[in-house]
Amino acid sequence: MRAMVLDTPKTRLRVVDLAEPQPAPGQVVLRVRACGVCRTDLHVVDGELASPRLPLVLGHQIVGEVVAGDDRFPLGARVGVPWLGWACGTCRFCRAGSENLCDRARFTGYDLDGGYAELVTADSRFTFAIPSGYPDEQAAPLLCAGLIGYRSLRLAGDAERIGLYGFGASAHIVCQVAVAQGRSVFAGTRAADEETQQFARSLGATWAGDALEGPPEELDAVIVFAPAGELVPAALARVRKGGSVVCAGIHMSDIPSFPYALLWGERVVRSVANLTRADGEEFLALAPTIPIRTEVEAFQLEEANEALARLRHGALRGAAVLVP
Ligand SMILES: [Zn+2]
Ligand SMILES: [Zn+2]
Repeated sequence: MRAMVLDTPKTRLRVVDLAEPQPAPGQVVLRVRACGVCRTDLHVVDGELASPRLPLVLGHQIVGEVVAGDDRFPLGARVGVPWLGWACGTCRFCRAGSENLCDRARFTGYDLDGGYAELVTADSRFTFAIPSGYPDEQAAPLLCAGLIGYRSLRLAGDAERIGLYGFGASAHIVCQVAVAQGRSVFAGTRAADEETQQFARSLGATWAGDALEGPPEELDAVIVFAPAGELVPAALARVRKGGSVVCAGIHMSDIPSFPYALLWGERVVRSVANLTRADGEEFLALAPTIPIRTEVEAFQLEEANEALARLRHGALRGAAVLVP
């Protein structure tokens, strides 16, 4: 089977012909129909995350068809594989319902080969049924951009006025959820990125503009999706007393020091790490009721390097998806 393989960070992915994967007990083999490209993939390629398995097949927003496997799904079923590929079930975090923090968690497209390939294996307990109304390409970004965005929104509390800083794949989904819930969305982008600001307004954002400057009014919470540490003090400066700044990414440049007065007033800065299966079940049930529409740009599997380059330069509208 064909796969795009990362041999070592800071190099291009290479097209490789790999042996067809065989399922271990409890695993399914999927024929990949679509795999979303996530900013985390870019962090892995750029060597910004500690210890990926190498060589590695990236990709953790996989929509595939079961071609071999166990009893949980019939052959031909369409299922999704997210970032959390396995958790131990016995550590203190798993036992407390926080498998996203599992000490021994394994992640798809990081510790385990992912979906930049024609076939992939997955632990069937960590896969989801995909809602039937979504074409493969539109469903793929729900599995990380949507799911982790949704977890971030939940951790932002019941904020009525919510900032989304960095308006890419995740924010374009979260924006739709927040607007459907009756919240006002304030979309922060790069200063001159009028195209993205227009995109945010088209999805119901009340305001769209330079994230560093922020909107004219006070916000209840901000979710920072962009991996730019300077946005954290900028967001704190816009958040009301008791409000939160939620950092949704797995990696961020260093946060510059800032006066304590920005945090004073019981403001909170927190991160969001990974997902739980409960997040996935909840979000995938919610998506069609809103209904969330994902904006995707499709690439062939061999165009993975190009898709990553487009993401790096902020040249995508919505999410990039690879279609083998
Ligand atoms: Zn991701
Ligand atoms: Zn655990």
